[in-house]
Amino acid sequence: MDPYLARQTMVEKQIKARGITNPRVLKAFLEVPRHLFVDEHLKYRAYDDCPLPIGYGQTISQPYIVALMTDALQTQPDHKVLEIGTGSGYQSAILSKLCADVYSVERISPLASRTRMILDELGYFNVHIIIGDGTKGLDREAFYDGILVTAGAPYVPEKLVEQLKTVGRLVIPVGDQDIQDLKCITKTEDGITEKSLGGCRFVKLIGEEGWEE
Ligand code: SAM
Repeated sequence: MDPYLARQTMVEKQIKARGITNPRVLKAFLEVPRHLFVDEHLKYRAYDDCPLPIGYGQTISQPYIVALMTDALQTQPDHKVLEIGTGSGYQSAILSKLCADVYSVERISPLASRTRMILDELGYFNVHIIIGDGTKGLDREAFYDGILVTAGAPYVPEKLVEQLKTVGRLVIPVGDQDIQDLKCITKTEDGITEKSLGGCRFVKLIGEEGWEE
């Protein structure tokens, strides 16, 4: 199938049909060529309703989960956002369409280098990839309008909440290694509120404020 048609079907059947209606978010999913973020031998499955392996024991998340997390962040064009877990770079590319700057931390150096090349080839120059342990956030660029964690954490790392602006949103899967609750934590002048976006299953967030390797 033509990739654009495949994206239209993905947006209609997997994203809109499950209740995501923000036109800016839907437009980003129509524009970003997901098939260019997966390995050659898996391109034919790039628009399927599931995560796919990207090497190094990691995955590119299911399109709907990427959309759900992106939608919850309530991004604006002038926003600065932090992503923990660059992986394939697909989520970073989606955020790059919606925000001014995307800082993305990845702990696996060869994965980060491969993804940097793909993002450069496609012109996503407002994505800044940093190699390191994202469980401590990225102090040097704080504060952020939004922080998105794309690996499953045992608890919410305090540093991430600290590095949010007032108002700011943190979207993070928290739970055990098999199943997590996708949390949206909002910081406002009135304090911190938390809401559940439902169950999910992510690879482990590994680091000082995460799981052991
Ligand atoms: N957002 C990614 C995408 O669009 O492909 C999906 C990422 S994958 C589900 C999770 C990623 O988090 C992996 O690439 C993994 O290496 C990374 N990761 C796990 N723990 C991390 C940490 N402490 N800091 C930075 N990256 C981490």
